[in-house]
Amino acid sequence: MIKLIKPYITFDEVKEEFKEIFDSGMLTRGKYSREFPQKMCEYTGAQYSFNATSATTALAMSLDTLGVREGDEVIVSDFSFPATVNVVEACGARPVFADVSRETYNMLPDELEKKITPRTKAVIFVCALGNPSGLDEIVCICREKGIPLINDAACAIGSSVDGVKVGNLTDIECFSFHPRKLLTAGEGGAITTNCDEYAEYLSVKLAHGATDKNGKMDFVTYGYNYRLPELQCLMLIKQLEKLDEIVAERLEIQKQTAQALEPMGYAAQKCAENAVHNIQSLVFTVPEHIERDGLIKHLKENGIESTIGTYCLSNCTYYRNKYGDVQPNALYLEQNTITLPCYTGVDTEKIIHTLLGQ
Ligand SMILES: *Cc1c(COP(=O)(O)O)cnc(C)c1O
Repeated sequence: MIKLIKPYITFDEVKEEFKEIFDSGMLTRGKYSREFPQKMCEYTGAQYSFNATSATTALAMSLDTLGVREGDEVIVSDFSFPATVNVVEACGARPVFADVSRETYNMLPDELEKKITPRTKAVIFVCALGNPSGLDEIVCICREKGIPLINDAACAIGSSVDGVKVGNLTDIECFSFHPRKLLTAGEGGAITTNCDEYAEYLSVKLAHGATDKNGKMDFVTYGYNYRLPELQCLMLIKQLEKLDEIVAERLEIQKQTAQALEPMGYAAQKCAENAVHNIQSLVFTVPEHIERDGLIKHLKENGIESTIGTYCLSNCTYYRNKYGDVQPNALYLEQNTITLPCYTGVDTEKIIHTLLGQ
């Protein structure tokens, strides 16, 4: 079976440091959990980075930082993993779905402008499947209107716009280190920002609501624990060091696959000319005459794992029933996109051959 994903980290790469961590007895709040945020800042260029247990907790903390409450509206990109909208619903705010481009799969500027109201408290842009295309235009609109912008960059570590890395492009950015993403620690996340005020708030909230003055904890507010343990931080540091190579390799696989499949009517997810997409997922819209679910089955029968692109949030049963505002492009993408295996050493030829034989 050709698997859909393969982590970019092996036990051999970490075993020496793992032993050192176990021997030290310091399984959390040690040198690696301090080092990882520093490395995230160096890599992305952001001023501050905080560890989190997942992109979901990172997003929830971001909404909290912006003071999003019941009665507020938050505009979200409609083509994403449901965690993007669940965090909005969970804090009692109303999610407003903005439709996306059928080419880049990202929020359309016109759709965003149409959805802004006096109650709009924040916007969550999603770098769909890692693609940051069009984010620059969304940044301009949000700045002009004075609306804080969160980048759900769960998939987008290593991507960039105009040479600026994701993590350093909006007010607050959230990353995931789930195994479906480029870098993984099993589970994990990060929040980056350049805003002193947000950083100050997060540093207290993420430490149980306490400030630390010369080792003396003062619980000045209520807070949370979304820390990442030492082993996880070490795994992430190791992968971050080779991230640019990983992205270059994936771009090459994407290029080869697109060249072979596009003449047959498959359309690759598009990237803007001023952007670099990390190809977190290798996604195509299938030709009109091909039924996507049948294609996934056909690949499986031939020993190739594949899956859908991602979800139309407004078409999830819960959100459709509650808001009934299904967005057409996101729905089209949910029904017509396929994710193919993409990693070092994957048998691209077999995948292409099997697709073309369909
Ligand atoms: C995976 C993903 C999430 C959730 O990430 P977790 O780390 O699993 O919480 C959120 N948003 C997007 C766009 C994702 O792809």
